[in-house]
Amino acid sequence: MGPGGMPPPLRPNNDHLKPPKPKGIKELPGYIKKLTGDFFGRLLYIFKLVWETRKWIFFSLLFIAVLRGILPIVSAYITAQLINNLARAYNGTVGLDSVMFWLVLQFVYLFISKILGFIDTMVTRISGELVTNHIKVKILKKAKEIDLGRFDIPEFYEKLENANREASMRPLQILNSTFNAISSSITIVSFVVLLWSIGPWIPLVLALLGIPTAIVNFVFRRKNVNYMRFRSKDRRQMEYYSGLMTNKDLAKEVRLFNLSDTFIDRFSNVFKRYFSGLKKLILKENIWNISITLITVIINCLLFLFVAFKVTEGELEIGDYTMYTGALNSISASVTAIITSTATVFEGTLFIENVIRFMKDKKTIVSSLEEPRIPQRHIGHTIEFKNVSFKYPGTDKFVLKNINLTLNPGETAVLVGLNGAGKTTLIKLLTRLYDPTEGVILLDGYDIKEYSPEEVYDLFGIIFQDFGKYAVSVKENIAFGQVDKEIDDESIEAAATQSDSLDFIKKLPASFDTPLMRYFEEKGIELSIGQWQKLSVARAFYADSDILILDEPTASLDAIAEQEIFNQFDELRKDKLTLFVSHRLSSATTASKIIVLMDGQIVEEGTHKQLMELNGHYYTLFSTQAQRYISSLQEDTNE
Ligand code: ADP
Repeated sequence: MGPGGMPPPLRPNNDHLKPPKPKGIKELPGYIKKLTGDFFGRLLYIFKLVWETRKWIFFSLLFIAVLRGILPIVSAYITAQLINNLARAYNGTVGLDSVMFWLVLQFVYLFISKILGFIDTMVTRISGELVTNHIKVKILKKAKEIDLGRFDIPEFYEKLENANREASMRPLQILNSTFNAISSSITIVSFVVLLWSIGPWIPLVLALLGIPTAIVNFVFRRKNVNYMRFRSKDRRQMEYYSGLMTNKDLAKEVRLFNLSDTFIDRFSNVFKRYFSGLKKLILKENIWNISITLITVIINCLLFLFVAFKVTEGELEIGDYTMYTGALNSISASVTAIITSTATVFEGTLFIENVIRFMKDKKTIVSSLEEPRIPQRHIGHTIEFKNVSFKYPGTDKFVLKNINLTLNPGETAVLVGLNGAGKTTLIKLLTRLYDPTEGVILLDGYDIKEYSPEEVYDLFGIIFQDFGKYAVSVKENIAFGQVDKEIDDESIEAAATQSDSLDFIKKLPASFDTPLMRYFEEKGIELSIGQWQKLSVARAFYADSDILILDEPTASLDAIAEQEIFNQFDELRKDKLTLFVSHRLSSATTASKIIVLMDGQIVEEGTHKQLMELNGHYYTLFSTQAQRYISSLQEDTNE
């Protein structure tokens, strides 16, 4: 559904507290194997992304991590020595110079650790931007080759939304956390070595204390990921409603129908639903964490007492007390840091799976041959539909049924039919934006699937009903018809003349260089819909195409402009194959072939004369329009 459609009704649901368990969660051994297997695969994928972005990011982060890991023990050692020497100086066993030495070292240490902090922030910020940009461009490039059919499936939007959301901070966060875990491991190892002399069991106790924290962390991260996946539709709905409120094209309708409050209400309701489950998850996780912290604090206190006891016994100096208790603090902080970092990495890799899934989305509109055919250019083309039927992906209804049709070189064919008859769909198949569900389409005698899709796209100059309006200059709007050609003013002007747009363009403040729309430019010009349409026609003329297709090209044009464009077309098309979809049947009268579509089937085919004589569907449509036209003329003369 496009942004212009009515928003879907929200399904009432109270199931937000129970995201479905992922399949297979009960088969533990296999599940864990799969989990860890995928975990490393995903982690590797992220490292690859960062590596692709800039190699120095990787090395800088590793360097910073190692330094960060070593610094705590250096600090503990310096502080202990400083206090010991102070005590000794107090007792008169050493001079003040020993104290000075350690004091200066302490300040050098402080300075280095501050500088390291700055460097860390700087590297993280710069690399954050670079990595995000790298991934976003990767997603855009992937989006470029996504089959149009994908856009019809909600699941695709879900993948796209997930990929886009996760692309920004997640990879760097994962990388940072991985390196944090490395730093913490280095810190732990160094302090364990230090503590070994007073009791090897102490680090063991601290490690055991980490287990409950680890369990809580991993369980809740997984719950969080499942919840986010489960609620992906909610987030897309929120984006959809806020998009409706800020969409320029819809602003008129939203105001006049007074839809703003409805959309804001819906937005808020979806948020409430999304948030209530999330809030519960966050609260639960923190209740667990607080309880575990309480136990940890008590046990730590007992360990401190043990070290203090050793000092009072005379086994340790006063400075050693600070060193060993500092070691205890550092180890427990590092154990927690390792757990949270690994959990963040774990969670991140689960999220990043969205990006991986999106990137792995297979393109189906590809050539069926290993060496795709290349269509001949600048010749007349023949297109044949043979028993073609089609239903849109994910739907059951055939919108085209058993179409048999031949379009010959140089022909001007007109597709006629009521709204929803399947005209645009037929064009989408003809241009290979979709593949038929049944039957084949032949281009110059070969299955269209055997050709390279990009080369096939190049054959067509096309204007869709919902043609593009681009916030760039007039000239670029026309030149977008063929981007691989260097912009040449003469052809641009010719295309503007042929599409009957030259007059209004000349009147614009900067003629062809006038910026259009006011998204970016103060002085941007807003065109009328008819003028936009003329520009889109100019774009099709500018394209160096062999087959011209115009899907209701004249819907927003007045009758005179329409006639002029048709005349231009007739002159220009030479031996080009031209296919029109038109509501105004007056334009069909000169066509070499009229195809009447009804309910997805071709019901009549022939020239205007033949079809009028047939006295069938076309005759009825034509007579109704002619009658309406005559009555309106009569009303005009009567007035
Ligand atoms: P026309 O151009 O003759 O007005 P279309 O070819 O646009 O008709 O539509 C033909 C039928 O296909 C309609 O019933 C329409 O609802 C359906 N349809 C069009 N686009 C899609 C889509 N992306 N997904 C599912 N159904 C679609």
